[in-house]
Amino acid sequence: MITLFTGYDEEDKKKAQESRAADEAAERAKESGLSDDSSTPSGQGFFSRMREAVTRTRDNFSSRINDIVALTREVDESSLEDLETALIMSDIGVQTTTEIIDALRDRARKQAISGGEELGDLLKLQLVDVLRGPIRPVVTPSTPPKVTFLVGVNGTGKTTTSGKLASWYRGQGKSVLLCAADTFRAAAIEQLEVWAGRSGVEMIKTRQGGDPAAVLYDAASAAKARNIDELIVDTAGRLHTKSGLMDELDKMRRTATKLVPGAPHEVLLVMDATTGQNGLQQARQFTQSAGATGIVLTKLDGTAKGGIAVAIARELNLPVRFVGVGEKMSDLLEFSPEAFVDALLG
Ligand code: GDP
Repeated sequence: MITLFTGYDEEDKKKAQESRAADEAAERAKESGLSDDSSTPSGQGFFSRMREAVTRTRDNFSSRINDIVALTREVDESSLEDLETALIMSDIGVQTTTEIIDALRDRARKQAISGGEELGDLLKLQLVDVLRGPIRPVVTPSTPPKVTFLVGVNGTGKTTTSGKLASWYRGQGKSVLLCAADTFRAAAIEQLEVWAGRSGVEMIKTRQGGDPAAVLYDAASAAKARNIDELIVDTAGRLHTKSGLMDELDKMRRTATKLVPGAPHEVLLVMDATTGQNGLQQARQFTQSAGATGIVLTKLDGTAKGGIAVAIARELNLPVRFVGVGEKMSDLLEFSPEAFVDALLG
């Protein structure tokens, strides 16, 4: 059937213009290395990027798992033990592994698992379940800005992630302001300035050694005055044991709340995936003192033990919000449990 075009009113014209503008923006974003829609689960190319990011983990993990699945005709204690070893080797963690194996053993006892393939499918479901467990809807304040703090220890990738996140939100059509509140590390302000320039986002800064709460005050005031959607705050690297620095973070929280009700809306703990179980231990202590609401797992591209994402969800009870998959601006992917598990085992 051919549908005849009967009218082309102002509304249609506006829509066409908007859609052309969106296409052009996407094209420009691609050319400049800004994040495109392949960084969100619904975007084209997302799955293959996730798959590429976990290549090393998959090589390490799925070859073992796939062997077990292929060779298992009947699920018995020895196949479950092999599976247990493979899960622990990929840094999923002893506690999480034990829970998954116990659940599978229970099913096997009831003879509800017929063979290797079904064992593999059930394993996938279990992993997705664990990863989905702590996910909560992200708070979007009724009046902007939404304020996000990036916290964590030095070298995990906070500054890099702040820059990538600015670009990611820009790709989502949001207006963004960066706040350089890492006034402690010598190069952090300059480094963030480079990221701000690349992503075409403005940045509020102070001199090195300045008061981070004061620069945050300026940034939050500017974000309110300019009606900015997303205020991203890069904070200094700190250990939870350094009480002076943790007090400073508290002061920043109070400053944010005073200016923007409900802020900070997200506190993302940046964690380096290559530090595995040690990083997890550090994160566990950090989470309590810094009030983290989610995790950014960086350097997923550089580890064979990406199973740590599962341990984080289970043991910290925090959702993985984003994963860092390289050093470029567009190398930040919104996390999707299904895509991650499929990329690992599919
Ligand atoms: P900060 O001290 O926490 O602010 O850490 P930086 O942002 O300075 O990052 C430390 C190093 O990690 C830099 O060399 C970054 O390029 C690198 N880095 C950060 N995120 C990623 C990632 O997802 N993948 C890779 N391969 N490198 C990363």
